[in-house]
Amino acid sequence: MTCIFCGIAAGDIPASLAFESDDVVAFHDIDPKAPVHIIVVPRVHYDDIDALTSADAALAGELLRVAATLGSTNHGGFRVVLNTGPDGGQSVNHVHAHVLAGRGLGWPPG
Ligand code: AMP
Ligand code: ZN
Repeated sequence: MTCIFCGIAAGDIPASLAFESDDVVAFHDIDPKAPVHIIVVPRVHYDDIDALTSADAALAGELLRVAATLGSTNHGGFRVVLNTGPDGGQSVNHVHAHVLAGRGLGWPPG
C-alpha cells in the first residue's frame, strides 16, 4: 500500500476512528496539534482538494459536512484546514481535512 490514508480507509493500517460512512472516514491524528485533532478523508483517493472538487463536488461537500459535524460538538469553536501542495504544508497526498479544536487556535497560523 503506497498511500497511508488509503490503507487506513481500507482497514489495513490501524487508526483511532472517530467516524466512518460508505464515503468518508475520520480518525484521530497520530501527532495532534490541538486537544481535538481529527483527519477526515474520502475513501476514494484524490491527491488534493483541487482534484476532489473537480471530480466529485458532492463528495467534497460530504467531506466538509462530516468535518463540520465533528468540529461543532466542541462548543468553543473549531477550525477546518486542507493543506494543499508543498507550500501549503501537505505531507500526505490523499486529500484530507484537519478538524482542530479544544484550545484557542489563534490567527494567522504560523
Ligand atoms: P498534512 O501535513 O496536512 O498532509 O497532514 C497529514 C497529517 O496526517 C499530519 O497531521 C500527520 O500527523 C497525520 N498522520 C500521518 N500518518 C498518520 C497515521 N498513521 N494516523 C493518523 N494520522 C496520521
Ligand atoms: Zn490514498
